Amino acid sequence: MAFEPVIGLEVHAQLKTKTKIFCSCSTQFGKSPNANTCPVCAGMPGVLPVLNSQAVTFAIKAGLATDCAIARESRFDRKNYFYPDLPKGYQITQYAAPIAEHGHLDIDTEENGQKTIGITRIHMEEDAGKLIHDPVRAKSMVDLNRTGVPLIEIVSEPDIRTAKEAGAYLRKLHTILKYIDVCDGNMEEGSFRCDANISLRPVGQEEFGTRAELKNLNSFKNVEKAINYEIQRQTYVLEEGKKVIQETRLWDPNKNKTASMRGKEEAHDYRYFPDPDLVPLIVDEQWIQSVTKEMPELPDQKQARFIEQFKLSSYDAKVLTTSIDLADYFEKTIENLSDIKQAANWTMTTLLGMLNTKGLNITQSPVTAAAFSTLLQLLEKGSINANAAKTVFEEMAASGKEPGVIVKEMGLEQVSDQSELEEIVTGIINDNPDEAAAYRDGKTKLFSFFMGQVMKKTRGKADPKIVTPLIKSKLA
Ligand code: ADP
Ligand code: MG
Ligand code: ZN
Repeated sequence: MAFEPVIGLEVHAQLKTKTKIFCSCSTQFGKSPNANTCPVCAGMPGVLPVLNSQAVTFAIKAGLATDCAIARESRFDRKNYFYPDLPKGYQITQYAAPIAEHGHLDIDTEENGQKTIGITRIHMEEDAGKLIHDPVRAKSMVDLNRTGVPLIEIVSEPDIRTAKEAGAYLRKLHTILKYIDVCDGNMEEGSFRCDANISLRPVGQEEFGTRAELKNLNSFKNVEKAINYEIQRQTYVLEEGKKVIQETRLWDPNKNKTASMRGKEEAHDYRYFPDPDLVPLIVDEQWIQSVTKEMPELPDQKQARFIEQFKLSSYDAKVLTTSIDLADYFEKTIENLSDIKQAANWTMTTLLGMLNTKGLNITQSPVTAAAFSTLLQLLEKGSINANAAKTVFEEMAASGKEPGVIVKEMGLEQVSDQSELEEIVTGIINDNPDEAAAYRDGKTKLFSFFMGQVMKKTRGKADPKIVTPLIKSKLA
């Protein structure tokens, strides 16, 4: 029997506020353990939470960016459970009445083109702390710096069917959150974390099968690998005539497999109830309007504009808008250029290739947009040819020197002098009479032989735009 995977994702994104969601402690990552704590986030008795309005603004922004309806009234609930990193014994979260609902996000799939993935809800909640296990001293310690850091949880509809679609959805969501600048998206620091729910059903069956929830997926690659593993595992279980158990499973990136962590808890296990310390959150029209006004151009809009304004292919426009930093870099680069297509190619192959090799992101590029632009201007003006430009670029990436300086130091100025090149071409034709005769006889493939000779003579610096017609006319 053939089975169809059904996948729904829950993403926890840390909001980029300066302070925590219910107290004024700093959210800064990497501080010494428990430096960022106060009686509120340490869960002392008698303290009162005060909602951070910046967190609400960010949550509204995320809701608007994913076409959600923003709730004019939402509420905070207590989700009760005991864990040493949760000093209050409950997590404040929005359960019954989230800030945003009924959104969607469009992804590109290899198999089926564009596909819309529903977003069930976005709610705000506080993060828990961290346990640090010290195997040497056989001790566990708790760091409460992260307790009370604001999160949004973005819950998708079970609309995803493959690991690749899940990856595309997550990358798109990640891109959007970075565009609207509400989350730094740092997956290693846990600012963007994903749980994946997966079930299988016989092809053609409407009803969903029993799902497993995968945790500990800390990179896009791991999400895809874990989902594929889980699809395989559940397929074996069902093919053997057994039942998939509803449970939480942990992905082990070293063993490349998932293992059972615990049975799945149900909502009633948490005994949710409205937090009596927090009044309902009312968001008025004015608040929504002011956030709407702050909304930047979103990835899909930017891609459409790049196609329209710069006449780029949809593929190029997509690559160049995958991150807002790359898109900004590209727009700065082309400010004073006329050959946009050439700049796009250089950005996507040479620049991104260099960054990839060095393991850097665009904001860490040793070649600034201004310097990159200067290099491409030299290429456009014909001061250097494409080969020389590649050499200059490599040197820029290595030394950070200005392109003009490198061109002078390495003597890479293109030879564009008509009479100088004419002399060289004539000389080469005279030195190679057999090839010249053969060319004139119709062996026009020998053109590249003559071009090669010219380049050899000029150490690669001849301007091909001038040399090409010269060779052709002299051999006509
Ligand atoms: P919980 O919070 O207990 O994990 P939710 O009902 O909020 O449960 O669902 C969480 C996620 O699981 C959602 O993304 C949803 O789309 C997905 N989901 C629900 N049922 C299934 C299923 N049978 N198979 C796959 N995913 C599912
Ligand atoms: Mg869940
Ligand atoms: Zn605090």
